[in-house]
Amino acid sequence: MKRISIVMASVAVAAAATIAAMAPASSHGVKAMSSGTVKITPLGSHDGEFCRRDRAMLFEDPNGTRILYDAGRTVAGPNDPRLGKIDVVLLSSVHGDHIGDRVIANVNAGTCAKPKTNVKMAPNSNTAAIIASKKAKAYAGGEMRNFLRAKVKAAGGSPKQIDVLRFGGQRKAGGVRIAIVPVTHSNGAGPAFLNKSLATELKKDGLTAYVGPDNGFILTFSNGLVVYLSGDSGISAEQDVTVRRFYGAELAIINAGGIFTSGPEEAAFSINALIRPKAVIPHHTNEAATKGGKLIPGTKTAKFKSLIKAIPVHLPLSGRTMEFDGNAKCVKGC
Ligand SMILES: [Zn+2]
Repeated sequence: MKRISIVMASVAVAAAATIAAMAPASSHGVKAMSSGTVKITPLGSHDGEFCRRDRAMLFEDPNGTRILYDAGRTVAGPNDPRLGKIDVVLLSSVHGDHIGDRVIANVNAGTCAKPKTNVKMAPNSNTAAIIASKKAKAYAGGEMRNFLRAKVKAAGGSPKQIDVLRFGGQRKAGGVRIAIVPVTHSNGAGPAFLNKSLATELKKDGLTAYVGPDNGFILTFSNGLVVYLSGDSGISAEQDVTVRRFYGAELAIINAGGIFTSGPEEAAFSINALIRPKAVIPHHTNEAATKGGKLIPGTKTAKFKSLIKAIPVHLPLSGRTMEFDGNAKCVKGC
């Protein structure tokens, strides 16, 4: 009898697991929720501030999986003590401010408006150095994958660390589901990253090397939280169709600096009308947005915040860890 009930119990557990695995990523489906919070820590140039060059963000799943998004110039190389264990590195584009053509020597070097990022990493990059040193995984499609494989190999890692992932597909890394979504931008590798003969030829015509499309990302954490990372995007119908309707993003981290990406008005439109998340973090605003951790009036970040009425706007202050539950509610550090 006891044996039968154990068998019955394992059948029930297996059936429940199958149902959970079948649940769609979208918030319209049944959401597989578990407890725990996702920890998000911006790794900017200046402790406690949101500064001009800030790109990097660290995500930690309740199960311990740690994901670094856009190492950029403000992570002081693979030995930056803020990094710790890194399981996955995500890269939105190979532009210098994201891949890290040069980096800060130490956190707080220079000012928030003009961080001192003078340690040269090109022709390799901060991103490849971190992937190699941390033995991390990275995901990219087509040409960008091959470009990164070569860089990681040159940095002492293995090309096998870079797995294929393109728009439409998903991968699972330590319990976190990762999907790539389109970005409206460009993704050329500049001459600084190329071998000398190719760089010389391309420079003559003012061209960069083609490395495929940029990456935006959807991260679905094990507590059910769905996060959208916009990359350097403008307004895009994908933010309505793919990011909201299919993936059901609940927390959006959106670039809002203008000129190179959406500005505050465009980013606010994406949030209010297209993505409609439960909370938002402005990103990549290319300015010293805070002083003493407080938002400076008249900044682009302040403009963006004033245009978001219905949901909380959380500032990405460097080194401050924010914790989100499975419904995108900030329960600590905001
Ligand atoms: Zn950028």
